[in-house]
Amino acid sequence: MIVIIKQDSTWDELHPLLRYCQENGIEVQETYGFHLRMLNLVGDTPKLDLDRILAFDAVENVHRLLSPYTLAGRGAHPEDSVVRIGSAAVGGGSFLLIAGPGSVETEEQILETARAVKQAGATMLRGGAYKPRYSPYAFQGLQQEGIRLLVQAGREVGLPVITEIMETAQLPLFADVDVIQVGTRNMQNYELLKELAHCKKPVLLKRGLSSRVEELLLSAEYLMADGNADIILCERGIRTFETVLNYTLDISAVPVVKELSHLPIIVDPCHGAGRRKLVPPLALAATAAGADGLILDVHCDPQNALSDGHRALTPADFQALCAKVSAVRGCL
Ligand code: PEP
Ligand code: MN
Repeated sequence: MIVIIKQDSTWDELHPLLRYCQENGIEVQETYGFHLRMLNLVGDTPKLDLDRILAFDAVENVHRLLSPYTLAGRGAHPEDSVVRIGSAAVGGGSFLLIAGPGSVETEEQILETARAVKQAGATMLRGGAYKPRYSPYAFQGLQQEGIRLLVQAGREVGLPVITEIMETAQLPLFADVDVIQVGTRNMQNYELLKELAHCKKPVLLKRGLSSRVEELLLSAEYLMADGNADIILCERGIRTFETVLNYTLDISAVPVVKELSHLPIIVDPCHGAGRRKLVPPLALAATAAGADGLILDVHCDPQNALSDGHRALTPADFQALCAKVSAVRGCL
């Protein structure tokens, strides 16, 4: 970390910064440039708080040389991480195909969909039980009963299951869920992340809808800092100035994350596209960009779905897409 010191700063102004470094076990090397006075900070600098350093009177500016996410970053872990979930795996060449309805609605609905997606090649079953809806009047999910029906359907067809958690108090209800999903709205719910760091289950962390890649990786760091290494990242579209779609699917996040991190990254083209017709091209683009998997809304009767029907594929659409995804992967 390089700290630029104000030209006219006095020893009294510099001293508190040097003391802060000493207290944090950081070695300080002073360098004088032609017009610059700088300190090179050596040690566990990713743990230093940039804002704390900027607050010292003597400091003009500060630049990080190392990423602040040491555990999620590639630096300390050059090989791809592989997250294993029962019979499924993701990362390091293993592709995860998650499919299922936006919401679990009835026992028959989730079972019928589970059978259909399993037959078409899905490796994990999704289904929302706690639903983060924009309107309080929209269907909020079957909640605890939804989790029970999802787990039952997954067991019946032999697929691991994933569903979204909204708050820490719900964690005991997730005992039989294989992967816990943190939705876009909770990517920066740090208390939830700290709790999930101890839960001994893989976590799918979706990118916040206005979050930078660095912020996504720092949220992953929260999970990893307290011991959870099984993290799967997910790009699902972000808010931009473009209004044609609800969100802009940031395909470039896939190779960018792969460069910066060893964690697997999958893509959700359904939430990114918001329209059924756009899902296949975006899914194929994500696959071609090197995604480690896809998460797709699939519903047997999208027109009558209680949520997300407009962007859900039918089982037949899903089957056709799976074949194309395999073909794209064959070219990589
Ligand atoms: C979902 O997967 O059902 C969902 C709500 O996703 P997101 O958090 O990306 O909106
Ligand atoms: Mn949804």
